[in-house]
Amino acid sequence: MNTPRFYNTLTRDKAPLPATPGQSVKIYTCGPTVYDYAHIGNFRAYVFEDLLQRYLEVSGHPVSRVMNFTDVDDKTIRNSRAKGVALSDFTAVYKKAFLEDLAALHIKIPAQMPCATDYIPRMIGMIESLEKKGVAYQAEDKSVYYRIERFPSYGKLAHLNLDELKPSGRVNHDEYEKESVGDFALWKAATPEDGDNRWDSPWGAGRPGWHIECSAMATALLGDTVDIHCGGVDNIFPHHEAEIAQSEACTGHPFVKLWMHCEHLRVNGQKMAKSLGNFHTLRDLMQKGFSGRQIRYALISVHYRLPLNFTFDELDAVGQALQRIDGWRRRLSALPAAKGQPPAKWLEDFLEALSDDLNISKALAVLFDTIRETNRMMDQNALAPEDAASHLAAWQIAESILALGEQEECVAPQEVLVLLEKRKAARQAKDWKASDQIRQEIQTLGWTVKDTPKGQELIQN
Ligand code: AMP
Ligand code: ZN
Repeated sequence: MNTPRFYNTLTRDKAPLPATPGQSVKIYTCGPTVYDYAHIGNFRAYVFEDLLQRYLEVSGHPVSRVMNFTDVDDKTIRNSRAKGVALSDFTAVYKKAFLEDLAALHIKIPAQMPCATDYIPRMIGMIESLEKKGVAYQAEDKSVYYRIERFPSYGKLAHLNLDELKPSGRVNHDEYEKESVGDFALWKAATPEDGDNRWDSPWGAGRPGWHIECSAMATALLGDTVDIHCGGVDNIFPHHEAEIAQSEACTGHPFVKLWMHCEHLRVNGQKMAKSLGNFHTLRDLMQKGFSGRQIRYALISVHYRLPLNFTFDELDAVGQALQRIDGWRRRLSALPAAKGQPPAKWLEDFLEALSDDLNISKALAVLFDTIRETNRMMDQNALAPEDAASHLAAWQIAESILALGEQEECVAPQEVLVLLEKRKAARQAKDWKASDQIRQEIQTLGWTVKDTPKGQELIQN
C-alpha cells in the first residue's frame, strides 16, 4: 500500500503521513463552541476528520484523537447570561446535543473530549511561563496579551507577513490597550458582562482567551507535538497561528507535524455561518426527512479542500446514490453464500485513491464503476458466488471508512399501518375504488403506497 500523503497547510504541499506503518497517529481537532446547536457547515469539518481517522485506522494506524468542547468564550457567556442559566448548565445541553449529532452522522466519538473549563489551571500555568519568557504581558486593562513580535515565525501557517496583520475575529477587543494590533488575548480581565464567569489568576479575576484553551488541552492530552491538527479553513488565522505561537514558545518543540484544513460548506457562494443566518442544523434537516447517512454522504462526497455548495437538490441526488449502493449490496447478499473470500481487487484502488490526500471523488468512482460492472454481471446471472463474496468483503472494509450504515428502517405510524391492512383487504376483494380511496388517505398522512410484485410498499413523502 502507498504511504498516505496529505496536503499540509503549513508547507502548502503534500507530505507523507508523519508515522511509520503500524504506528499510531495523534490527532487534535478544534471542537464545537457549545453555545447553540452545531450547523452542518461545522459538521463538514467533523465528517472530514472522521473520514481521515477511519481511513488511517483501516490503513493500520491506530488513532488517538482529541476533540475539545469550547465551553467558555464570549458567545457561551453571552448566551447563557441572556437565558439566565449558569454557564455549565447552559453548555451541558449543547454538549449532549453535539454527541447525539455525531452519532446521527456516524462520526466516531473521539477518544477524549476535554472541556476547556476543566483545564483553566493548565492555561494559567502556560500563560505564566509565557510571561516569564517575556512573550506575554499584562496591559493596562488587566488582560494579558501575547507579544507576537517575540515569535518571529508568527504568520507562518497563514503565510502572512507580520506587517500586514490587521485585527480580526476574536482578537479585536480593546486594541488600544495592546502594544501591537496583532497581539491577542491570553487572559481576559473580568468585566461586569461576564457575571460569575470568572476565575482567579495571578493577573486578577478573568477567563482564558479562546486560543490558549486549545494549546492547553492539546499539549496536556497529546504531548508537546501532535501529528495532525485539523479544522476548517476559518481556523487557520488567527486561531491556529496563535496555537502554534503559544505552544511552541511554551514547550520549545514543534507543535504540529501536519496541518489539515477543510474548505467551507457554502450557501449561494457564502460560508454557511450562524452569523450570516444561512445555516441549517442537523436537526432541522432530519426533521425535513433527510437521514443522517444522506447528510454524511453529501458532506464527504466532495473533496475536503474544495468548497461544497449546499442545496436541497444535491441532498436528493445523494439519496439516489445511496439507493444504488444499498440495492447493489442487497443483490450481492442475496446470491448463494461463499465464505472466506479475500476482498475484491477494487478495494486496493479505493484505498489508493484515499491515500492521495483523501481523494474521495476517485474512491467513489472506483466504487460506482464496480457497482455498474457487477450489476451487469448479475443481470446476466454471470457473477460466481465466490466473486460476490469477494465484493462483499471489499465493501465491508470500504464501508468501515465511508460509514454510511444500513438503510434506516422507516416505520410508519400505527394509523398508516391499519389503513394499509384495510387496503390490502380491499384489493383482495377487488374493490379498486376503496383501494384508491385508502391510498389517498395514506397520502394525506404523508406516505405513498407503491404496489410491487412483493405487495404494498410504503414510502415516506
Ligand atoms: P466553531 O464552533 O465556530 O468554533 O466551529 C467549529 C468547526 O467548524 C471549526 O473547525 C470551523 O472551522 C468549522 N466550520 C465552521 N463553519 C464552517 C463551514 N461553513 N464549513 C466548514 N467548516 C466550518
Ligand atoms: Zn482550537
